[in-house]
Amino acid sequence: MEHDTIAAIATAWGESGIAVIRVSGSDAIAYVDQLYRGKEVLSKVDSHTVHYGKIHHPRTGKLIDEVLVTVMKAPRTFTREDTVEISCHGGLIPVEEAMKALLTMGVRLAEPGEFTKRAFLNGRIDLSQAEAVIDLIRAKTDQAAQVALNQAEGRLSRLIRQLRTEIVETLAHLAVNVDYPEYDAEMMTSDFLQERMSEIHQRIEGLLQTAKQGKIIREGISTAIVGRPNVGKSSLLNVLTQENRAIVTDIPGTTRDVVEEYVKVRGIALRLLDTAGIRETEDVVEKIGVERSKKALETADLILLVLNASEPLHTEDRRLLTWLQGKTGIIIVNKTDLPQQVEWDELKLLASDLPLITTSLVQEQGVEELEQAIADLFFSGRVVDQDATYLSNARHIALLEQALSNLDEGMKGIEVGIPIDMIEIDLKNAWQALGEVIGEAVAEDLIDQIFSQFCLGK
Ligand code: GDP
Ligand code: ZN
Repeated sequence: MEHDTIAAIATAWGESGIAVIRVSGSDAIAYVDQLYRGKEVLSKVDSHTVHYGKIHHPRTGKLIDEVLVTVMKAPRTFTREDTVEISCHGGLIPVEEAMKALLTMGVRLAEPGEFTKRAFLNGRIDLSQAEAVIDLIRAKTDQAAQVALNQAEGRLSRLIRQLRTEIVETLAHLAVNVDYPEYDAEMMTSDFLQERMSEIHQRIEGLLQTAKQGKIIREGISTAIVGRPNVGKSSLLNVLTQENRAIVTDIPGTTRDVVEEYVKVRGIALRLLDTAGIRETEDVVEKIGVERSKKALETADLILLVLNASEPLHTEDRRLLTWLQGKTGIIIVNKTDLPQQVEWDELKLLASDLPLITTSLVQEQGVEELEQAIADLFFSGRVVDQDATYLSNARHIALLEQALSNLDEGMKGIEVGIPIDMIEIDLKNAWQALGEVIGEAVAEDLIDQIFSQFCLGK
């Protein structure tokens, strides 16, 4: 396949040790040859070799930078096209100049994700691997990166392929049975079919169950800190983040906005929201914060309710404690360094089964216990499994759910005695849905949509 030659700066924008321009396409080597002056002519060198030289502007002859050029010939490259990588010195000017020189010669600036798109279109990777590259770029935590990496290596693809093979095998048995009803060497009884289908069903369900944990690993546990003004919400946020991004003051209600902060607790990423408190207020400025806080509360995975041990319970504390029942939450009774006035017996009753931790945030006491309680809630205290394949992509989840419902339908059909060859359609649909996860039989526009999510140079 002929492809025009594209280029993009592949390293992060800004100051760095080196900056890499990636050029890919049928004429990639020829284009770079026009800029490059070194011992060799690049079109004559062996594939997968690195060459020192200088880049000059092709028209003005002006020296742009000293570079290392890596020449990689198709098909053993990421895009399966001829690819050249030019490593310039860091800083904006040399790469920008080199990039401009390439573009004036007729190389096209790559669209976001276009390199990965070519890798996919040229059969180098499948769709779920391509999507994993997006995840890898966006990964916010080490685990998320590991999960994405596993997927990029094709773990999910392998599982999906196995499931598809099993469906095809089942379909094959089915075909034998339909074509030769008297052939009884391997009779496709409805029991046998039911069994195969429920096996496949179970495995898809298992994969879907990892979705929730996958989301947690990838996006972090969205965590809302709530409580009356001045109980220590911002202090908690600060202790957890160990920096002072949220404003801590003695004036009630000074946290004006929802502040987001990521922290890692026992290997789990928490996306912390410091809310303006959920107290009804007439203060207009604060109201914006309060409105947003309520929204944050509705969608939070975890709620940390902070109470003040040095004061008796307020009506609002009681209201919050009641409201917290049935949610995933932890009660933090703060300021234990001060004389205590909180009604412990009533508090324990109101807390019911929710974990209750005592802290003195000014003295950084109780933080370990809090972290352990969080870990216990989400992973039963276990360390996050780095090797597992976690489903984390909304499109994959929808497709697997689709496959599940196809199987459900088929199994229901068997129960009510629908002719077995009708079940074939449900099995084929399930097979199709699974195929879409790895990009077999995917509509063109869907492919464009997926690749447009990439950043440039990937
Ligand atoms: P928020 O309004 O709930 O965010 O509360 P802040 O975190 O802004 O804390 C309000 C005040 O209480 C600040 O002066 C904190 O230094 C103080 N504070 C927070 N935690 C403790 C604690 O454990 N003990 C004591 N004595 N003071 C605390
Ligand atoms: Zn605050």
